[in-house]
Amino acid sequence: MTTTHGFWIAGREATGETTFDVTNSYDGRLVGTVSVPTEAQVEEAVAAAHAVVDEFAATPAHVRSAALDHVAKRLAERTEELAQLISAENGKPIKWARGEIGRAVSVFRFASEEARRWNGGEVQRLDTEAGGVGRLALVRRIPKGVVLGIAPFNFPLNLAAHKVAPAIAVGAPIILKPAPATPISSLILGEILAETNLPTGSWSILPVPNDRMPALVQDERLPVISFTGSDKVGYAIQQSVPHKHCTLELGGNAAAVVLPDWSSEADLDWAAGRMAMFSNYQGGQSCISVQRVIVDGSVYDRLLPKIVAAVEAQVTGDPADDATDVGPLVDEAAAQRVESWVDEAVAAGATLLTGGKRDGATYAPTVLTDLPADVTLARCEVFGPVLTVTKVDGEAEAFAMVNDSDFGLQAGVFTHDLQAAFRAHRILEVGGVIIGDVPSYRADQMPYGGAKRSGVGREGVRYAMDDYTYERSLVMTGL
Ligand code: NAD
Repeated sequence: MTTTHGFWIAGREATGETTFDVTNSYDGRLVGTVSVPTEAQVEEAVAAAHAVVDEFAATPAHVRSAALDHVAKRLAERTEELAQLISAENGKPIKWARGEIGRAVSVFRFASEEARRWNGGEVQRLDTEAGGVGRLALVRRIPKGVVLGIAPFNFPLNLAAHKVAPAIAVGAPIILKPAPATPISSLILGEILAETNLPTGSWSILPVPNDRMPALVQDERLPVISFTGSDKVGYAIQQSVPHKHCTLELGGNAAAVVLPDWSSEADLDWAAGRMAMFSNYQGGQSCISVQRVIVDGSVYDRLLPKIVAAVEAQVTGDPADDATDVGPLVDEAAAQRVESWVDEAVAAGATLLTGGKRDGATYAPTVLTDLPADVTLARCEVFGPVLTVTKVDGEAEAFAMVNDSDFGLQAGVFTHDLQAAFRAHRILEVGGVIIGDVPSYRADQMPYGGAKRSGVGREGVRYAMDDYTYERSLVMTGL
């Protein structure tokens, strides 16, 4: 039996006039039916959010913090139910889905703590110049207004949490728009938010169809857009509303570099295992999954067979099975796109070492070498379980190759050399450098975001809180 899920307007559950189906990409079964808000219902949510801006900003920090803490606890209590749901709607292996719920719990917990700790302001003396004698500035961070949070399908709950929790922490109303493939986990988050006493209008969750999003993006009552998704959609949004504050968390083709000192058997085993796991976890559908492995020539011949063996040891199958490492992609079209990119690379001269096969929406974990520089796979974000390995001569060539990309989200550098680590941090054009591990590591309190086409702005609870607010000075005269 499947359920029809309502959406949330100003904290109240409602249904619209039409529905759409959410299906499991592994076996095609119906996961749930989701009600679509009408234009009048979207207007109701926007008007309610706009009306509550001042009241929500003035809601005491302890009230907002307690609400966030409640959400963290309830998500933790409902972990198994939510993990099963995310695994079904997204196709993500159940073990990774459980991990995602744990991270969303942490995001709400961090936000609960930050809501109490954050005072977001300072006092400035102004008598540093003659004209400022007798004056003082009280600088406070004030919410910019309603946040429109747009989430992708690949971490449907945790990336929704990264939009909603910081907004509540600063007292900014939020309208969350989940991805069409994976809206149900966000709608369950709505059930939990409805248990709190946050002001009416301070949050809404609306599965608005993509073709109706431009009107919402253009709405002047929503001055902040927090978008996570593809660079194509993200930059189109930004260009359509250049006067708005847009945080763009976009894609990448993340690199893992292996420097010559990373050379013991244990070093290479660890690197190969991590690369295999994090080029394939979630079917490679993570913005920081390992796509490009760049290896110094001195260790290349020893590392390559270990990578292939570790990739071949990944268990592909039913996402509901505890043993599964790699499930299907979000839909069959996504797997067909990955297949066409690999086929193009092989036709252009790349060597396929393992994988390269598709079964419905599932694409086999794949390793390629000898990748020509101009094929799609070398330049674009594959967002599938595909890893390419390239041999280089020394650190300078490796770092130049990392930077030879339109994207710059994170990079991993396998080295024990402290100076090399600092050089990587200085030289690599990315939002984060992970030493001794793959680029795919993220802690949810860390600033997270990209350089170049990987985006603008930072998430990570406290950084999003800064993004959702601006400094407003109060100058006191006659002191
Ligand atoms: P997508 O760009 O297709 O969709 C993202 C969201 O935008 C969805 O909710 C979608 O419905 C909505 N959308 C689509 N058209 C829109 C429009 N015209 N106006 C407003 N909203 C619109 O991305 P996706 O396929 O869901 O996610 C995959 C992408 O997200 C990958 O590129 C991945 O790297 C990126 N991503 C980035 C991060 C990060 O933090 N940097 C994290 C996860 C995923």
